[in-house]
Formats: sequence, structure tokens, C-alpha cells
Amino acid sequence: MTSSADSITTLLFDLDDTLYPPSSGVWQAIGERINRFMAERVGIPAERVAALREQYFVAFGTTLNGLRANHGVDPDEYLAFVHDIPLDRLLAQDLQLQAMLARLPQRKVIFSNADRAHAGRVLERLGVAHNFEQIIDIHSLGYINKPDLDAYRRALALLGTASAQECAIIDDQLRNLLPPKALGMRTVWVHPAGGEPGADYHIRSILNLPACLT
Ligand SMILES: [Mg+2]
Repeated sequence: MTSSADSITTLLFDLDDTLYPPSSGVWQAIGERINRFMAERVGIPAERVAALREQYFVAFGTTLNGLRANHGVDPDEYLAFVHDIPLDRLLAQDLQLQAMLARLPQRKVIFSNADRAHAGRVLERLGVAHNFEQIIDIHSLGYINKPDLDAYRRALALLGTASAQECAIIDDQLRNLLPPKALGMRTVWVHPAGGEPGADYHIRSILNLPACLT
């Protein structure tokens, strides 16, 4: 059964490439840091890095969990290294995003496979930190990350009162929306191109979100 608009009480937002567009270059900068970490800190031959990253991303959901499982990487060291990027040059205050979020009455929560420190910096940079009442990050999920079904169950537990049917989830990766759709959440795929079926809604910009909540 599809939930009606006023039954949605909680909005779960992915962070990277969802609150800002992929064209910002933030994710590309993080990707370059991940490659450097794998080569310089883990000692993986440079020519194997790209294939291994892809393999870990598919098999473990994140590169981090692949590196933890196979190379004993310390998550704090990894997260600090890969998120050490020049955010000031890549992101600016987004007044339209701020206004759109302010008009939505629902509780707004960040639900990200990144860590709280990175999420906090991105939110500050965009000028929307005050719009979010909670950050559910990789630490609060105990390193169980999207799209693992348990990550969504843990997020619901951390939210306290919300049931899946009360939540809408917004993410740029379609694969992160399939498990929550099965749980009964309303799913919104933010992607500048795309249009594949699979989520309840597809929008090209986060600014179009209100139309998915009516
Ligand atoms: Mg994302």
C-alpha cells in the first residue's frame, strides 16, 4: 500500500551527490583520495587499485568494508584520509536548497555511508546544517552500510519513533533505494540523467523533492 503524503514524518537524506550535484567534483576528489590511500597506505599496486575498488564496492557496499575485511584497514584512519579534500573550493552556500528544506515540515535526517565529520563539513559548507536534526553515519551504523538491509533497520531503530512507512529516503544511488522500498519506505532517486524504473520517484535535482512528497 502506498502511504499518503501526510503520513510521511521523516526524510532520510543521503549526503554525497544527493544534497549537491555530482558536477561539484566532491565525489571525484574523494575518489582520488581513496585511490591514494589504497596505493600509499595499504600498498596495493597502483594498476590494481581501480579494479579492486570496483570489486569491493560491489561485494561490500563500500571500499572501506572491503579494505577492512581484506587488509585490516583502520576505519578512522581511512575516513579521515579520504575526506581530506578542499571542500571550500568545491561547494558553496546553497540558498535554494536551504529554502526548499526549510519549507518541508518533516523531520530531516542525514543517512550516509560517510562519517559524521565529513557530513558536518558538507552541511556547514552548503549552509544547511541547521535543517537537519540528526546524522546517521557509518559509525552509528556499526559499519553496516547501505545497501545492506540491516543498515536501514538500524537507521529505523536509531530514529526511535518512525516506522518504514513514515519515511521517505532520498539517494543518488538506485541500489541504495531497493532494500528500503521493500521495507515500505517511499523512495526518491536523485540523478541528473537516469530514469530507470526501480524507485517510486526519479528527480534530476534535489530541489524537485517537494513534488515527491505531495
Ligand atoms: Mg550518494
